[in-house]
Amino acid sequence: VHEGILRRQSARESSARTYARALPIVPVRARGLTIEGADGRRYLDCLSGAGTLALGHNHPVVLEAIRGVLDSGAPLSVLDLATPVKDAFITELFHTLPPGLADHARVQFCGPAGTDAVEAALKLVRAATGRSGILAFTGAYHGMTAGALAASGSARDIQVARLPYPQDYRCPFGIGGPTGAELAARWTESLLDDPKSGVPQPAGMILEPVQGEGGVIPAPDDWLRRMRRLTADRSIPLIADEVQTGVGRTGAFWAVDHSGITPDVMVLSKAIGGSLPLAVIVYRDDLDVWQPGAHAGTFRGNQLAMAAGTATLAHVRENALAERAATLGTRMLSQLTELTHHFPCVGDVRGRGLMIGIELVDPDADPATFGTPPPAGHADAVPAAAPEPTRTPRPAAPDLAAAVQRECLQRGLIVELGGRHTSVVRLLPPLTISDEQTTAVLDRLADAVTAVAR
Ligand code: PMP
Repeated sequence: VHEGILRRQSARESSARTYARALPIVPVRARGLTIEGADGRRYLDCLSGAGTLALGHNHPVVLEAIRGVLDSGAPLSVLDLATPVKDAFITELFHTLPPGLADHARVQFCGPAGTDAVEAALKLVRAATGRSGILAFTGAYHGMTAGALAASGSARDIQVARLPYPQDYRCPFGIGGPTGAELAARWTESLLDDPKSGVPQPAGMILEPVQGEGGVIPAPDDWLRRMRRLTADRSIPLIADEVQTGVGRTGAFWAVDHSGITPDVMVLSKAIGGSLPLAVIVYRDDLDVWQPGAHAGTFRGNQLAMAAGTATLAHVRENALAERAATLGTRMLSQLTELTHHFPCVGDVRGRGLMIGIELVDPDADPATFGTPPPAGHADAVPAAAPEPTRTPRPAAPDLAAAVQRECLQRGLIVELGGRHTSVVRLLPPLTISDEQTTAVLDRLADAVTAVAR
């Protein structure tokens, strides 16, 4: 069964598949952290539907919510009509919103995917401001539709000003730490304020509080507050893309809660649908300039997803699972950081809550010279303070990362890869992972790294 399904899939499905190539498994059953394949093998799943499964697979509260809708005879697809199921979802969602937004927010149902909600957010700020340009960051990932792609780091179609995202490892300025973040912030400020920069007043700024696909790069809270201040001072709506970081993943209900900032627009998907497709934007009500029909979509009324989402949001909130993610994340990070001391191929371990990245590097190569000087005209953005010492990154090692992923799979552990060079092993376990399961994940991962490093 297993081999036949894999063979037919690779003969008939698109070549765009990536997960299926790296993870040749045929899942037939799943519960919590565990997936069982058609060949009877069991895996600990730290991919979690690319971060979708806050409560793991088939959590009883999610199944009960879905069955509740099915048994009630409610319509399953309702466009943008009002229903009790949707009413419950909105009520629960508003319970969780950052305090500055909850009192005067609107929610817009955008469709099944995160990228749909990103498109809506970009369109909304353009409509609300009458301007067109978008500020986005290097290494960003916002989706695969044209507008979202334009705002993503790998795109060439730039109707977007690309700004440096602060990071310690591979800091764009080769400095890292608070000074690197300060430089990144000053660059952004000088770009906006320098008439010679040629950047017109933008319609909005979009950022991920922790870059996920970019390689798990948490932005410093101070830098986020700075971005909030500088956009507010210049009347630029700030869009927080919490598609991956939301619903407790980073150790706070929303990742922006760590810094206390209130974005003007939040883009939400993945976990908010409790494993079913759902994407919304939540925004300040004075941005609500849409005319009826100005933004539409057939699949905005998936009642199963809304019910599964309500159950998930409520369960995370009522059981303080964000706090649990913070505790477990700290434990995982500190244990995984040990790997950097033992294995030169483990260049960096970083993350926030249960969003963790392990960057593999080539231990035999010379430390590369990373970082670029500020562009012409921005030299004055360099602060006077002396650069702080930073670890010297070696070149990224995508082959080693892929090898770690393979070794993990052999040991019954599913992990994802990411980062600009696909050299970052990513862990996104469900927030419900037990202490024992956490130990098992850490052990298998350490074994896999040991096997590859040998
Ligand atoms: N934004 C972020 C931050 C994401 O991580 C993703 C998906 N990985 C998206 C947007 C796009 O979501 P989707 O794949 O559902 O379109």
